[in-house]
Amino acid sequence: MLQIIFATGNQGKMREIRAILKDVEISILSMKEAGLDLEIEEDGATFEENAIIKARAVAKALAEQGKEQECVVMADDSGLEIDCLNGEPGIYSARYLGEETPFEVKSRDFLRRMENVPEQKRGARFVCAIAAVFPGGETVTANGVVEGRIGYELRGDNGFGYDPIFYLPEYGCTAAELSDEEKNRISHRSRALGLMKEELKKRIS
Ligand code: IMP
Repeated sequence: MLQIIFATGNQGKMREIRAILKDVEISILSMKEAGLDLEIEEDGATFEENAIIKARAVAKALAEQGKEQECVVMADDSGLEIDCLNGEPGIYSARYLGEETPFEVKSRDFLRRMENVPEQKRGARFVCAIAAVFPGGETVTANGVVEGRIGYELRGDNGFGYDPIFYLPEYGCTAAELSDEEKNRISHRSRALGLMKEELKKRIS
């Protein structure tokens, strides 16, 4: 039976993925649950390239175990793009100021760099690319975006990463002030996953 292997070790992402794909009759395993422990170098130039690199690396490892015919491998890459900083931190969102630096420090650094930037130039977006490698090697990608603005201070305790500085004008709050349920409904990842679900349905029915 066909399975989805999602190339992440992040339990939060796995919960979101399972919730969004719950109406697709296919089991979903994390890399760890599939017995894989890979270090993958994300050296692509875009979110999409990095997602493809991760998905193909996992598909290759599964092929070495003779399991590629049973699996659709998916991977995602995501991050924050700030307009007035030429799209920074972009694909370096997790690595900005060093992987181990707390997000509060990274976020405060962006607030400092944008101290004199007026409201109308504070545009930013979260971007997510998901890649899927199907049995036989066909590779499909889907992208999701959520537009917002960089705030003037950190606000909210929910979410993770840059959520406390990502202000959503339609909601009048930051992504860290939304409940998990609300954030999952509008997030870049859920938009990309929703599109990927349609690609999946076309290929497995
Ligand atoms: P990755 O896709 O797991 O490599 O995550 C990249 C980085 O982008 C994360 O470590 C966060 O810094 C940032 N990021 C991605 N999605 C979100 C989000 O929904 N909220 C806040 N930060 C995010």
